[in-house]
Amino acid sequence: MQLGDFELYLLIAGRWKADGGLMFGVVPKVLWEKQKPADANNMIDCACVGVIARVNGRVIVCETGIGTKLSEKRAQQVELREPEGLLHSLQRLGIRPEEVDAVLTTHLHWDHAGGLTRRSERGGVELTFKRARHFVQRSEWDFALHPDVRSKSGYITDDFTPLADGHKLIEFLDGDAEVMPGVHLRHVGGHTPGSQVIVLRSGELACAVVGDLVAQTPHLKVAWNMSADIEPLRVFEEKARLLEEAEKHRWLLVLSHEPDQPAGYLEEGGRWRPEPRLS
Ligand SMILES: [Zn+2]
Repeated sequence: MQLGDFELYLLIAGRWKADGGLMFGVVPKVLWEKQKPADANNMIDCACVGVIARVNGRVIVCETGIGTKLSEKRAQQVELREPEGLLHSLQRLGIRPEEVDAVLTTHLHWDHAGGLTRRSERGGVELTFKRARHFVQRSEWDFALHPDVRSKSGYITDDFTPLADGHKLIEFLDGDAEVMPGVHLRHVGGHTPGSQVIVLRSGELACAVVGDLVAQTPHLKVAWNMSADIEPLRVFEEKARLLEEAEKHRWLLVLSHEPDQPAGYLEEGGRWRPEPRLS
């Protein structure tokens, strides 16, 4: 769909399942399972959702998903499907990986940054987008390299350390930034120290790729958050601010792990109105 100067395409970079307790933290299961039914293992359906944007002849990838490097054991645990979704989506649009100009991930967790790299033919790991600029908050990078005990399983260094090896394709940010005309990164923290929301703006119009600030439609309720959040109160604060703006200015929102109709608008009373042109 066209959003001002931006041509936007919904990206489903993979499908998988996550533990319901991980997704909804302290929210009782009797409440969340009405909206997101769990299977016999308490797992619920998830997607890795992002956006591919074209603007002024440039190509921007927002979020890269799990990618293809996951061990067989972990891939089975999370019932990973369509791990090649990112490159297939680009292929369908006639875009080769080396034609991508910028890659933005909301944070460096394995289910968002996995697609930044892939296995090379020689058995090592190589960058997926060899000519793109990659923008990461410095606080996220530092934490991903030295996570606390609870966050260790959330990061896989092969996903992101090759960005700093020789290629110099990474650009570190310290807070909010406009990295290309109309392409804003808002540092929100909360879920991880360097979590950022991607806001594509053209005139009055905006699309926000919100990362795990709002993972699925039930998380549109401010107090419903993921148990992985390291600073839940900050999540509530930043989410409330973002959703207020989004409702007031009719921003298009893209939710990080919503498997059904992940792009849409927040209407009065907290109702979700999916955008049919991004489905
Ligand atoms: Zn996530």
